[in-house]
Amino acid sequence: MPTIDALAERLSSYLEPDQIKQVCRAYHYAEQAHEGQFRRSGDPYIIHPLAVANILSDMHMDSQSLMAAMLHDVIEDTIVPKDALVQQFGDTVTELVDGVSKLTHIKFESQEEKQAGNFQKMALAMARDIRVILVKLADRLHNMRTLDSMPPEKKRRIARETLEIYAPIANRLGISNIRIELEDLCFKAMHPMRSNMIRKAVKAARGNRSELVDKINGALKKRLKEEGLTIRVMGREKHLYSIYRKMKEQKKSFKQIMDVYGFRIIVDSVDSCYRALGIVHNLFKPVPGRFKDYIAIPKANGYQSLHTTVVGMGGVHIEIQIRTEDMEAMAHNGIAAHWLYKDEEDESHSRGSQRARKWVQGLLELQQRAGNPQEFIESVKVDLFPDEIYLFTPKGRILEMPKESTAVDFAFSVHTDVGNSCVGCRIDHQLAPLSTKLSSGQTVEIITAPGARPNPSWLNFVVTSKARSSIRHFLKNQKVDESLSLGKRLLNSALSTFRLQMDDIDPAHFELLAKEFHVEHFEALLEEIGLGSRVPQGIARRLAVLNAGKEEAISDDHAQDQLAIRGTEGMVVTYAKCCSPIPGDDIVGYASAGRGLVIHTTNCKNMLELLDQADKCIHLSWDAEISQDFSVTLRVWVENGRGLVAQLASSVTEADANLEQISIGDKDERVSVLSLRIGVHGRKHLARVMRKLRLNKSVTKITRLKNASKN
Ligand code: MN
Repeated sequence: MPTIDALAERLSSYLEPDQIKQVCRAYHYAEQAHEGQFRRSGDPYIIHPLAVANILSDMHMDSQSLMAAMLHDVIEDTIVPKDALVQQFGDTVTELVDGVSKLTHIKFESQEEKQAGNFQKMALAMARDIRVILVKLADRLHNMRTLDSMPPEKKRRIARETLEIYAPIANRLGISNIRIELEDLCFKAMHPMRSNMIRKAVKAARGNRSELVDKINGALKKRLKEEGLTIRVMGREKHLYSIYRKMKEQKKSFKQIMDVYGFRIIVDSVDSCYRALGIVHNLFKPVPGRFKDYIAIPKANGYQSLHTTVVGMGGVHIEIQIRTEDMEAMAHNGIAAHWLYKDEEDESHSRGSQRARKWVQGLLELQQRAGNPQEFIESVKVDLFPDEIYLFTPKGRILEMPKESTAVDFAFSVHTDVGNSCVGCRIDHQLAPLSTKLSSGQTVEIITAPGARPNPSWLNFVVTSKARSSIRHFLKNQKVDESLSLGKRLLNSALSTFRLQMDDIDPAHFELLAKEFHVEHFEALLEEIGLGSRVPQGIARRLAVLNAGKEEAISDDHAQDQLAIRGTEGMVVTYAKCCSPIPGDDIVGYASAGRGLVIHTTNCKNMLELLDQADKCIHLSWDAEISQDFSVTLRVWVENGRGLVAQLASSVTEADANLEQISIGDKDERVSVLSLRIGVHGRKHLARVMRKLRLNKSVTKITRLKNASKN
């Protein structure tokens, strides 16, 4: 059974003593956290993280990756919170652990084969730090190695998923050691009989072949050494899964495949590669059309080597690969290979990811120079797809969408009908507003209602052209009388902010306005409002002016409010008490009959109930320049003590905020919960106030009150 001491011993070959100490510390921390947990095999749980770290150490991964490996199931499977890991091991290691946990959450079950490519892309996109993927691959490798303790059905499912997702990812990153082992383990789990047969056949063939292998090996070595090259020559065997695949895909018999002998020649420089090739071609007759120069034109995953096939003794075909030590390391460990080379001055995360990015960049350039970019486009990524996000439907289908896409964009990309009738959505099972910006990995369920229709205000936030054109198209095609009545409703709600209704207005004023706006009838204006091509507030304001007979009469009692939110000029604006929005929050306006436009935060619970009244909800944004104060309530947990209230009050003042009210809620002997209403300019200011308050030793927790009961 592997031990931490044995690992530490091996790490000393390439890590500094204090780095090894950190890895051991992570081990002991994880061991304690997983105390009392067991693997299905009956082993103590810690065996698993230790094995994962061992796999990574074979690739000479850095100490942070190894620490993350030790801790990779701690957030997920133990009571240790993320914060505790940050405190113990810092941000970078915690981010790695968190990234691995998140990848675990991607559900692969309901996945169709053709979408495997998408999954790979998503997995890669979600891992900002490529080391997350490497830890995850090592995790999966160990789980595959210990698959036997699983029930058969689960075994097959995991193997299938591994073959469709993880092996191709390993391949894309050029980590062939892991890819090959994963493939063989999957093959064994999915087709135990076939795997066993091929394994036995290979063993038998090896005996028959050994004499010839030795002969070829001897001949190659002798000749290359005579020419003064420093070389290593080794025989190669195909792995079981690749033999099986060749038999199946190329319809070859086992004998045909085994009749080909594979050798690898490792030399000391690129120059020697070509020299060795010349020597080999001189020794054995090359098979025409089989020479490939992957040194000049590397494969998409960075693989470099010369390949040739020659005819050897007795007419057997010999496949030969020629490469340098560096290329050999790259061929086995791929993207992980660049951690092999230690950077003395800085082992930090940014340096690591910089190098990873450079590696990818280098590949990209090579590929472009080679004039063969198409394969690569689909390939490796650290930040190669910064503009795409990947989302799930509840049934597990993946949609690829542009960054910043909202739930409405999502609805339209599922189907135009879904977009046209959507009224709300659930993001990861939580009810959320349709304007919510989505991020990679979320599951989005669109709620539709019969008879619902697109809201003109959606045009303010959708980003996909499909959603935009579909909404416009729908609005244009609604029956004229529908848009008329919607226009009327919208204008009426805009007028209500001036305490007016359309019935209050002199019909002559309507005709006057029609002339001003160059339309034939006032109805045409209402239609345009209903179609979303004209904003009702401006027209309402103009009508109010005409109605009052002079400009000043409607002059701005709410001058400050009007400045605070874009597009609300001339409206009565109030701020909902339940969620107390402040500048910087995402906001929605709800046009209520008596109170004008009530502003809520988009995630306010009360607002969620109102969002299906699409015609009354308007998505808004804050004005850039706001000078007024906004009230917000903080709940502050404090340990009781003398003079506390005064201390808190002065903290608020020191942060240039206005303390409007302070009251004591729950109180027991040790702890009180205070309610502080303060006036701030916006979110940043609020953050400053909260920081100041936290400096008081007796303060244990602060939250912003966001869902006060409705009042
Ligand atoms: Mn694990």
